[in-house]
Amino acid sequence: MLCATPRSGSTLLCDLLESTGVAGHPAEHFEALDSTGLPRQPRQYFNPGAQLTGLLAPTDPGAPDPELRLEEAFAAGTTSNGVFATKVMWGFLPDLIRRARTRTGQPHAADVAVLEQLLPGLRYVRVTRRDKVAQAVSLWTAVQTRVWRAGDDDAPAAEAVYSFDGIDHLVRQLTSQEAAWADWLQARHRVAPVVVYEELVADPQAVIGELLAALGLADAAVEAPAPRLHRQAGDRSAEWIARYHAEREAQARGPVAAKRSPGVTWHRGTLPREDRWGALEHGGATIWFTGLPASGKSTIAAALERELLARGRHAYLVDGDNVRHGLSGDLGFAAEDRSENVRRVAHVARLFADAGILALVSLVSPARADRENARRLHDAAELAFVEVFVDTPVEECARRDPKGLYAQARQGQLSGLTGRDAPYEPPAAPDVVIRTQDESVDAAVDRLLTLLADRDL
Ligand code: ADP
Repeated sequence: MLCATPRSGSTLLCDLLESTGVAGHPAEHFEALDSTGLPRQPRQYFNPGAQLTGLLAPTDPGAPDPELRLEEAFAAGTTSNGVFATKVMWGFLPDLIRRARTRTGQPHAADVAVLEQLLPGLRYVRVTRRDKVAQAVSLWTAVQTRVWRAGDDDAPAAEAVYSFDGIDHLVRQLTSQEAAWADWLQARHRVAPVVVYEELVADPQAVIGELLAALGLADAAVEAPAPRLHRQAGDRSAEWIARYHAEREAQARGPVAAKRSPGVTWHRGTLPREDRWGALEHGGATIWFTGLPASGKSTIAAALERELLARGRHAYLVDGDNVRHGLSGDLGFAAEDRSENVRRVAHVARLFADAGILALVSLVSPARADRENARRLHDAAELAFVEVFVDTPVEECARRDPKGLYAQARQGQLSGLTGRDAPYEPPAAPDVVIRTQDESVDAAVDRLLTLLADRDL
């Protein structure tokens, strides 16, 4: 069973598997059983709230016969050596499980149990595509033109029109569907070899060889695969991919982030993030601590940093006070300067996170909009951003006052201290709230470690 997402390369993989003679004709057998046949129902790619369907051509009336029986699917897809293969998109899995329950007469059995009863000796293969934007552009084009592969006789049903929102929606959807497959398999302790589209295209023979070996089918009579490698991607796809990236960057810059030297373009690193993170064996993210001066941000962030390093995680504390000694040494404490400081720190954290490091930012960052911009910057780069509100009443902060700031303010030597005579806007929806009067540093750190593990960070 090829656990796939649309335009992940599963069709190409099917063609290649078929040409080996090992795996029959994989295809979307199960989807053909239902009137929600994948190529025919573009609307299923869009959540009802997405409001994008108006851009799409009307649904194809020639839906496949819902009465087609499982036997026919098995017959069509099984080779003489007994291997049946099919690709299954994430969205179709619940339906397939429902069918398997009905068919095996076990309406309450566990999902994998009924699937594996229906398909004895079931093996899973995960199909992924690294470049999610290219994948989304390909899907966005196909759902509009209804041309699912080059060489299809069908004339395009409609012109494809660029839409940032349409592509962006699909980028998010494909990313979450791919993650859902991985989680689903992992939660059921099913090991699945992974086929990466980009690697498959680069060296089909090697990838197929490895896959068959991983499935224990290596000694089957394998012919050299003769791929039907016609790809649809063309100049227009490349142009749309570049345009989407440029627009996403521009959107992320926003008012706080809007700074770019004239005449420079973004250089996309040639090393994919997956490779970088894979080499480190972990990915990066930003944990952003906000709160009043002396609320406990640095204390908790530093303790978390120590714990993470002890566990082999690469973490680095970006401390607001330290940043002002160099990178932001030219800034004061006026509202614009504080915004600019937050913008710079957000970019620094994003670079750390992209590099595969957990960036722990400890910064008062009093303006909600500035923090939201920091989050948007991370969203645009598909990096996790965890906002931690260190919630300590100002009286308690003034009592602790490890740096003597509140004392200086009382004596009239310091003005514009956040919480005293400059505003602090608490987060509306922080990921974590730490009330330091009720929770020790150790307890807060434990809770953060648990949250990071829960979120797979
Ligand atoms: P900030 O980085 O928010 O300006 P600091 O971490 O520098 O604040 O200072 C917080 C002070 O509060 C430290 O002296 C710390 O020891 C003390 N403190 C007492 N209880 C806690 C707690 N539960 N969490 C964090 N800090 C605490």
